[in-house]
Amino acid sequence: MDSSDTLPVVIAGAGFCGLALAAQLLERGQAVVLIGCAANFGRGTAYGDAWREHLLNVPADRMGLRVDAPAAFADWLDLQGDERRRFRPRLEFGDYLAHELDSLRTQYGERLRCIEAGITAITRDTDARWRIALDSGETLESDRLVLALGAANTPSATTNDTIIRQPWARDALSNIDADAPVLILGTGLTMIDMVLALQAQGHRGAITAISRRGRLPLLHPEPPLPPTSPSPALLAALEAGDLRAAVREFRAAIDAGAAPPTLADGLRALIPQLWRGWSLPTRKCFLRHLRPWWDSVRHRVPREVFATLDRLREEGRLQIRAGHLLGHDNGSARIRWRGERGDAMVPAGAVIDATGWDGDRDRYAAHPALSALIADGRLRIDPLGLGLDCAADGSVPGADGLHLIGFLRRGECWESTAVPELRAQAAALAERLTAY
Ligand SMILES: Cc1cc2nc3c(=O)[nH]c(=O)nc-3n(C[C@H](O)[C@H](O)[C@H](O)COP(=O)(O)OP(=O)(O)OC[C@H]3O[C@@H](n4cnc5c(N)ncnc54)[C@H](O)[C@@H]3O)c2cc1C
Repeated sequence: MDSSDTLPVVIAGAGFCGLALAAQLLERGQAVVLIGCAANFGRGTAYGDAWREHLLNVPADRMGLRVDAPAAFADWLDLQGDERRRFRPRLEFGDYLAHELDSLRTQYGERLRCIEAGITAITRDTDARWRIALDSGETLESDRLVLALGAANTPSATTNDTIIRQPWARDALSNIDADAPVLILGTGLTMIDMVLALQAQGHRGAITAISRRGRLPLLHPEPPLPPTSPSPALLAALEAGDLRAAVREFRAAIDAGAAPPTLADGLRALIPQLWRGWSLPTRKCFLRHLRPWWDSVRHRVPREVFATLDRLREEGRLQIRAGHLLGHDNGSARIRWRGERGDAMVPAGAVIDATGWDGDRDRYAAHPALSALIADGRLRIDPLGLGLDCAADGSVPGADGLHLIGFLRRGECWESTAVPELRAQAAALAERLTAY
């Protein structure tokens, strides 16, 4: 046996995916090195720095770390009856992940090495190993490397002078004056997070949120409804990439009484396969025309979160509208409202970008863990800028031993965001890495 066979699997990124994969590998007898930033080690971006008001958008009994125990988070909290289907604070979920990490450390001892450090570069060695350089000065080598970097942000980055570009960064909103009017770009889940965070930190000023269509996420149906299976005609339209026909079939299903969220739930498991079958122009068309609607029915919010938005709207402190930003300076923003001629000036002491990072190719190329690999062509940004090119199993073509998990796979399968899909990716990848 070559000595490289015994090198541990290195996982770059210690958020949900890194932890879920580490658990699966350790349970299969592998040795693992898990590397992540100290600020949110084991919890990641979503469950590290949150306010108590930030709730999960998946019910507690579906948030378990492992595929074979989806209700483990609800069990850990000892939730009973309907409480198991409720949406718990994200911080609590972070505590559950921290508990899982502690258990792995205790159970697997030296087979798990956790390194709290920033990755400053990843390169390919001449002897076909991956070299991972850390800001601690240490350099690791491995023949099996998994990039579990989430959306490839770093918690320390960045607020530029005028627009808060990384709203989840630690203290991103802390310089906003309590009475300052705030403009939020985007009207999806991140916007809602920002409104809740501002309220939690005592903000009293007016908030304006804008997006192309001004569309908000839908509510989770309560009580929960079972998924609606797509009709044969809808499925056929989607398989053929005929999005116009698919929209007609969606409408027909809704007219026949199906609730849009249940249609999204019925399609969720089929999305990767459908997406893979679509041509690039069809994917582009989906992103341009259908995505705002899809996101609103697929990524929903619990009722109690909506109640806060409704209250703020009634108090006249929050307006959510369709429009786009033309420019801003000196505390005001120039906006073109959808369907209106002429520009309007809106007070905006702070502007928060809550539009996500899709299409931001520069972010990948600038990320310390990715930049060298992108520069030498081992990693390629997918044509839509959603993630990085990879095969259906997460392996990177032409880069032996390099794998992706999570958000970075969205260009390949689109539905690669939430815990139920991510833990399944972790289990499948662990199987594959163990068979190496
Ligand atoms: C605010 C928010 C709320 C969400 N809520 C839910 C929810 O309720 N339910 C659900 O199912 N999904 C939710 N999601 C989706 C979420 O993305 C997944 O659940 C999951 O947390 C993603 O985990 P990850 O490991 O892929 O990414 P991340 O959690 O982002 O982990 C990536 C890790 O890599 C680290 N990293 C990046 N660069 C470096 C570097 N150079 N060196 C070292 N470490 C680095 C980061 O610090 C981070 O810890 C939410 C996402 C967000 C952003």
